Amino acid sequence: MNAGERIQTAGSTLEEVRFQNTFAGLPAGFHSKLAPQALPEPYLVAFNPDAAALIGLDPREAQRPEFAEVFCGNRLLPGSDPLAAIYAGHQFGVYVPQLGDGRAHLLGEAVGPDERRWDLQLKGAGRTPYSRMGDGRAVLRSTIREYLASEAMHALGIPSTRSLAIVGSDKPVMRENVETAAVLTRMAPSHVRFGSFEVFYHRRQYEHLRTLADYVISHHYPGLTGVEKPHAALLREVIRRTARTVARWQAVGFCHGVMNTDNMSILGITIDYGPYGFLDAFDANHVCNHSDDGGRYAYNRQPGIAQWNLACLAQAMLPLMTEEDAMDAVNGFESDFEEEYAPAMRAKFGLATVREEDSELLRGLFQLLQENRTDYTIFFRRLCDFDASPDATNHELRDLFLNREAFDRWAAEYRARLMAEGSDDRQRAESMRRANPKYVLRNHLAETAIRRANEERDYTEIERLRALLSRPFDEQPEMESYAGFPPDWAGSLEVSCSS
Ligand code: AMP
Ligand code: MG
Repeated sequence: MNAGERIQTAGSTLEEVRFQNTFAGLPAGFHSKLAPQALPEPYLVAFNPDAAALIGLDPREAQRPEFAEVFCGNRLLPGSDPLAAIYAGHQFGVYVPQLGDGRAHLLGEAVGPDERRWDLQLKGAGRTPYSRMGDGRAVLRSTIREYLASEAMHALGIPSTRSLAIVGSDKPVMRENVETAAVLTRMAPSHVRFGSFEVFYHRRQYEHLRTLADYVISHHYPGLTGVEKPHAALLREVIRRTARTVARWQAVGFCHGVMNTDNMSILGITIDYGPYGFLDAFDANHVCNHSDDGGRYAYNRQPGIAQWNLACLAQAMLPLMTEEDAMDAVNGFESDFEEEYAPAMRAKFGLATVREEDSELLRGLFQLLQENRTDYTIFFRRLCDFDASPDATNHELRDLFLNREAFDRWAAEYRARLMAEGSDDRQRAESMRRANPKYVLRNHLAETAIRRANEERDYTEIERLRALLSRPFDEQPEMESYAGFPPDWAGSLEVSCSS
């Protein structure tokens, strides 16, 4: 190994992080350039070496006192060019003409060792021209929730923003109660949203619209450069990716909570983790966001809402394509969704082949889960060990149902289906364990980490959860209690838009 290689393995220092700020190079109408607001006496709360590796940052840098200063925005790295981006969006179905990064600063795009660029975005780093009535801050509670969820989703194989660090401060922040401020550094190839297009469409700034579409193509969909009708192709591809991401949400039982068009990524990745939730007891109508009175963003409505949001994007892109192309693109959503959802569900059930009767088998199970309010994650994990021999009772599974006779009837059908394709118990269990996570970020797990952080300044639970959830499909025997049913007190937890 020569010296050059050694330096690369060790990673760069903070000051050596390379920036290429392509978004900052867009015209002035796209953003406001400004530095973050100072945060008093910042300290490091959480650091994620996996995300640091993406930008080639040496993990030992987290031990420097400058690290907290940098990732709360008090100290700017050379080459960064901080800005807040403009966007609009449909919030709960209503168009809001101007939103924008009201509490987020894009520091710049850090270039990784593989030359990929990553937005380094500080969330909670103070007011911007888009803050409206907000204070520009985020509270420690919500940064912990977002930090953990994005890493958990990534590890589940679901496209997501990533989390680099949380920096805290004792600065009081007023929400329902007084809490303390924190800044989350999140990373993504881009934070452009559907709402970034909508703002220019509704203001009739069609030149900006075209510039944005061309920018997204050249930096994030390079395969579409030079194709016939590139903007229609872009829309089609965004729809495909969004459908796939939401199909995976459904398969794993993830509820986003605030699927407004400003929270929908142009890359089809999961962004903006607020009042999200993973299903505990199965309820197709589950609404995870306490502020969502009408249940607009209920679990079973997510695919339909995604398509509705994509229709908003398509409308915003109309000046760039024919109505027919836009309609065709949006109408493709359902088959895009099915193309991802059907194999994801087959994998969860351990079915190697496709059969006509399968939709009936799945429907039957979901009805049982609903009627018995069976725990979604635990059911599928236990299903991995289904014993398909004729006299097996599968009591571990059976015990998850109040109506055990109904389960027995379903299990008989499932057994027959497995027999029909000559399924082998051991092989099936192995592949199913890669489709059915053992560990998901249930609300009460995040809540425990939040309480320890807020009440005892003990941040170890955050790191314990991050490490646990980075391997959600693996048996981790010493962490068995994290795979159990939610405790009784979890039922009274309420998560809302307050963040
Ligand atoms: P969200 O519901 O978190 O996606 O935020 C919707 C909009 O409100 C975005 O434009 C945010 O930047 C803005 N926003 C949310 N919270 C605050 C805050 N505390 N201060 C300023 N702007 C905020
Ligand atoms: Mg948002």
